[in-house]
Amino acid sequence: MTAHEETNPGSPAPAPAQAGATPLLEVRDLWAGMDGKTILKGVNLVVRSGEVHAIMGRNGSGKSTLAHVLMGYPGYEVIRGEILLDGRDLRSLDVTERARAGLFLGFQYPVAIPGVPVTAFLRAALRAVRSQDVPPREFRKTLAAAMREAGIPEEFASRPVNDGFSGGEKKRLEVLQMLMLKPRMAILDEADSGLDIDALKAVAEGVNRGIAAGIGVMLITHYQRILDHVKPDVVHVFLDGRVVLSGGPEVARQLEQRGYEWLETPGDTASPASPATR
Ligand code: ADP
Ligand code: MG
Repeated sequence: MTAHEETNPGSPAPAPAQAGATPLLEVRDLWAGMDGKTILKGVNLVVRSGEVHAIMGRNGSGKSTLAHVLMGYPGYEVIRGEILLDGRDLRSLDVTERARAGLFLGFQYPVAIPGVPVTAFLRAALRAVRSQDVPPREFRKTLAAAMREAGIPEEFASRPVNDGFSGGEKKRLEVLQMLMLKPRMAILDEADSGLDIDALKAVAEGVNRGIAAGIGVMLITHYQRILDHVKPDVVHVFLDGRVVLSGGPEVARQLEQRGYEWLETPGDTASPASPATR
């Protein structure tokens, strides 16, 4: 089905990738929001093992909300729908449990953690996800390899997390985390926004390393340009809280030429048939 399916050297327990196998990630009729405002309005998505999916949509369409809700970020209310990772329902799991189940979120706006060096942060993250300490030697080896792959100079290891980092450095650190944690499925929220072309290429290269290592990737973006460097298998157009169109890479090029207006359905005020609030 895709070029990436057979390569899975970094993952301890690769899932079978035959067509018809349990999808890696499945989102079914997902409605969610916050503070009484419904933002996601019936999201449906299926990502199979080894696939790269792009989600494109203009600002405010709910892309980051989708990313946060999938990861179980606190403060969001899931109204209805299902989120399945390897067939397992994530809804009752908190963020850490979802990370242990193999989900990763790279933030659109990574936060700084003054006083905490990158190494200490990554070590704690790895320990949390593996539920056990990582031997120092193994940690140093893994870190050095991941830093090379993410294009991050060695001296970053001792700097405080994102403190004084440029936009490009912050996004590279998100990619570094992904490469260290080796999730089953990584959601990268605007890994490309605000980057110059060199930083964009570095980020794309890191993402491609992850893909080659068997990580399923959902690339959220509102520009086509990162998709010149990271080839998506499926492109979804996200509009007003749901996927309105899915197709191949040609969809991204269509958007570039035509914008989003042609996909809008005027007067369509969607609401769940029976909002089962919980
Ligand atoms: P995108 O990532 O596609 O730009 P977001 O998911 O960030 O979109 O936002 C979707 C909508 O939800 C926007 O209308 C935004 O104003 C609203 N929204 C986002 N965060 C909050 C919040 N904390 N409280 C209320 N509304 C929010
Ligand atoms: Mg966003």
